[in-house]
Amino acid sequence: MEVSLLMLGTGTSQGVPAIGCRCATCSSSDPRDNRLRPSACFMCDSVTILIDTSSDFRQQMLRHGIRHIDGVLYTHHHFDHIGGFDDLRQFNYLQQSAMRLYGLGETLDELRLTYRYAFGDALQAGGGVPSAILHRVEGGAPFTVESVPVTPIPVMHGVLPILGYRVGSIAYLTDTNYIPESSYALLENLDVLVLDALRHTDHPTHFRLEDAIETARRIGARKTYFTHIAHDMMHERDSVLLPENMEFSYDGLLITSKRGSHD
Ligand SMILES: [Zn+2]
Ligand SMILES: [Zn+2]
Ligand SMILES: [Zn+2]
Repeated sequence: MEVSLLMLGTGTSQGVPAIGCRCATCSSSDPRDNRLRPSACFMCDSVTILIDTSSDFRQQMLRHGIRHIDGVLYTHHHFDHIGGFDDLRQFNYLQQSAMRLYGLGETLDELRLTYRYAFGDALQAGGGVPSAILHRVEGGAPFTVESVPVTPIPVMHGVLPILGYRVGSIAYLTDTNYIPESSYALLENLDVLVLDALRHTDHPTHFRLEDAIETARRIGARKTYFTHIAHDMMHERDSVLLPENMEFSYDGLLITSKRGSHD
């Protein structure tokens, strides 16, 4: 099974550059230092499966000319990962159908609370309301989106249990600082791993680069790309710190794996 992952946004919650910041990364002319909010999409044959609707969702869809989405896999409810939810209504219009959303029960509950106008609670709906069908998923229990098998991977984001996702030999684990022991079995035989690496210094809910490298070594994917990158990391300058089979991802990077999950 050939699977691709298109990196739509590789920045942290504020995006890079951060508003008003004059640091070296935020002033950099290297396009790889320009990072939209975190999101990616799996592409398998004609099926497109989005991961999160970031605060930059609209811009990401326009930038890549994406006109069809078969489903959205939510990692968790933090706003940088759900902020583009309202713009799903354009896909309702293009596809003439409700959008299927997948996530943990807690994530879907938070989505309902944040966007209550879209779930039947608002007095006046306004000009347009996204139409969504919520599918509750459990970590470690595979499901399919248009016949493409997806495995949700439990990871910890500080004290919050959230999900990463695996399709074929590619896994995407953002917003994490701890991989539970039982999840390593779901990450065997990976061709490509995408992993959270926020910055150089400690953070209560994200891997710092050093720990991300250590974790990536243990998972042992053929290739690892880091994401959710804050402005204290510069693509070119800090790439020298990475082992040979690890790289920083960047917006627009297209990763393709021709291997199935057990090849
Ligand atoms: Zn985040
Ligand atoms: Zn900055
Ligand atoms: Zn988060």
